[in-house]
Amino acid sequence: MSLEALPPLRDALAAHGLMAKKAFGQHFLLDLNITRKIARLAELKPGDRVIEVGPGPGGLTRALLETGARVTAIEKDQRFRPLLEDLAAATAAGALTLVFADALAADEAELMEGDPGHVVSNLPYNVGTALLIKWLTGPWRPSSMTLMFQKEVAQRISAAVDGDAYGRLAVIAQATCAAQTVMDVPARAFTPPPKVESAVVRLTPLADRPSPERLDALQKLTAAAFGQRRKMLRASLKSLGGEALIGAAGLDPQARAETVDVAGFLRLADAWLAARARQAAGAVA
Ligand code: SAM
Repeated sequence: MSLEALPPLRDALAAHGLMAKKAFGQHFLLDLNITRKIARLAELKPGDRVIEVGPGPGGLTRALLETGARVTAIEKDQRFRPLLEDLAAATAAGALTLVFADALAADEAELMEGDPGHVVSNLPYNVGTALLIKWLTGPWRPSSMTLMFQKEVAQRISAAVDGDAYGRLAVIAQATCAAQTVMDVPARAFTPPPKVESAVVRLTPLADRPSPERLDALQKLTAAAFGQRRKMLRASLKSLGGEALIGAAGLDPQARAETVDVAGFLRLADAWLAARARQAAGAVA
């Protein structure tokens, strides 16, 4: 069988008696026009290696395979195994690798066998942000990420400083990637429709991504600063160095987290690392 000869997704779901499960954040895209558009936005070339989290019935997977990419699909819900195995059988040998596991625990670098690879996914809403943070800060650095989120999360990723949506996610995403919302997807496009609108975000990692130490510092500082976002930084960062740290980063001690841009947070991270290095040197002397 070929990809074109596969039954429509709705028929395949019905034939296997499958219904969406809320606990797994399942909202399916059964319209191949939409999944093909997402695959186009991912700008894949034949032979590119791609991780797809949560293939479910495999609509986006079909569209990704049509580009000639080699897809490794990680699915937690075993119920989709027969349907996805039919899809694997309809493609060239090695084009689709199925992994039935929790994507949060996956070792993507190992799955990509040394290729940087890409991620394309209609993410399960309940673990979407956790997966994004893993890919932004972890050891595996994909060449690009094309990801469907709830619109509100998409807005938090690409938010500009000094707006309501600006927070930890914006700082960490924009310190590591160029991030852009490339497609809005209405709730009615999904089966079953979720309560909220969705959007596809494309993230391209920056060539000068901060080192793991700087990212670690950034995570600590943004957690403390945005944990009390209405407070002045000198209060919210008290336990991490307070006014001395803010002065070393060239920031106004009266500033609040939401008014500090990404470059400002990176300077805070550097100041915190420098202060720690001085402390460590003092302890040794
Ligand atoms: N890609 C399909 C589509 O677009 O129609 C399904 C998308 S649905 C929003 C999310 C999928 O992620 C579901 O198939 C769900 O079972 C799967 N999933 C949920 N949590 C997961 C996890 N931790 N690891 C891997 N897959 C997960």
